[in-house]
Amino acid sequence: MAEQVLIVGGGDGGTILANSLDRRRFDVTVLAASLAHTFQRGFLDVALRGRRPRLVRDEGRLVGSHVRLVHDRATAIDLNAGVVATAGGARLEYDHLVIATGMTTDPSQIPGLTEVNARFGDYHTDIAQAKKLWAHLDTFNGGTIALGQSSPICKCPPSPVEGILLIDELLRAHGTRERTRLVFFTPYPRPYPAEGINDVVAPILEQRGVEVLPFFDVDKIDPEASTITSIEGDELHYDLPVVIPPFVGADIAYEPGDVVDEGRFVITDKESLRVKGSDTAFAIGDASNLPTSKAGVGAHLQAKVVAKTLAGKRATFDGRTNCSLDVGHGRATYVIGSYQAPVARAAPNRLKYVMEWLLGRFFWMSLKGTIDPVFDIYFKVTEPKAPKRQQ
Ligand SMILES: Cc1cc2nc3c(=O)[nH]c(=O)nc-3n(C[C@H](O)[C@H](O)[C@H](O)COP(=O)(O)OP(=O)(O)OC[C@H]3O[C@@H](n4cnc5c(N)ncnc54)[C@H](O)[C@@H]3O)c2cc1C
Repeated sequence: MAEQVLIVGGGDGGTILANSLDRRRFDVTVLAASLAHTFQRGFLDVALRGRRPRLVRDEGRLVGSHVRLVHDRATAIDLNAGVVATAGGARLEYDHLVIATGMTTDPSQIPGLTEVNARFGDYHTDIAQAKKLWAHLDTFNGGTIALGQSSPICKCPPSPVEGILLIDELLRAHGTRERTRLVFFTPYPRPYPAEGINDVVAPILEQRGVEVLPFFDVDKIDPEASTITSIEGDELHYDLPVVIPPFVGADIAYEPGDVVDEGRFVITDKESLRVKGSDTAFAIGDASNLPTSKAGVGAHLQAKVVAKTLAGKRATFDGRTNCSLDVGHGRATYVIGSYQAPVARAAPNRLKYVMEWLLGRFFWMSLKGTIDPVFDIYFKVTEPKAPKRQQ
């Protein structure tokens, strides 16, 4: 009898995994809270460039015909009993469970942020929020724009720096850069957390006249006074705030309850991708607490590791990251590293910008698995090198 694989979440990781499993050996079910699959990187284009690309596809067209797609939301996962309960009242059993529920923005964690976000938008929540932010940026006529992440976890770690650099590019095109103060705040000690890429982006920020506020942990926002205050008591005035909200994992009641941390991220073995204490459950992508970037590339590679493990092959996740960083003006670089290899310095150029554009064009195909051999070559060619051990 075919083994039952239940994947909770039909986003990037869940879809890639469903399409990677052997249809002769597994009965695959994807439990998806939403059937609108979104290319989230495209929020940058909508919010900061005013473009209107087609960012949403129907999940039913992305998974293979062997996949049973259930449009419902998991509300409880009992790992002891092997059952997932849904909002619609179903109880789904499984032989293997894969949690791929991603993460969402949660402005309620910062006083004042819900109000500010509702007014000004952001580029990490959804298309509506991204359009709202564009409406403000497009009509901005000078003053202070303050952009930064309000908690250390961020979907796509390059996206905060990309945000400020793309706004700089936009204001130059609009002719309003000279009358705008651009401030980039971050909880980290430097503009980019990983040193190799920081060596690249810090000089660019300086050259573009962006003020950087390191160690700025957002405590609260006062929408009346238009100020962002840090835990240390520093106050930042804004005319236009672009605040990346904190993120949380899916609102699911787990049994046992200690498999999630305080941010509702699933506690996952960093190599085997098994959920803490479980032989039958895995977690992939943004839903996990893996010590690596929250990125589609990670979800992709983790899905492949789980597919191999379920097929009985030896496979471990090496912490690989591979995120593009658009520095504006038609140039980009890549943030590439792994558990063993620290992120290396990589200068931006035009070729990397074209590659980034191409990877965006191939996004939907990458979910279906139709161009897996191309990705295998790409990941091999760009594999980061671990430093040699001292004898
Ligand atoms: C501005 C921006 C730029 C980005 N740039 C890049 C980039 O350059 N490179 C890169 O690799 N990544 C990038 N990303 C990140 C990338 O989009 C995510 O990391 C990726 O989508 C994570 O995949 P996932 O499968 O873990 O989660 P998601 O793709 O978010 O999917 C999670 C799915 O789970 C579903 N779900 C949630 N809760 C439940 C539930 N209770 N029951 C059932 N289903 C549920 C959701 O509806 C969703 O469909 C970017 C993201 C943003 C916002």
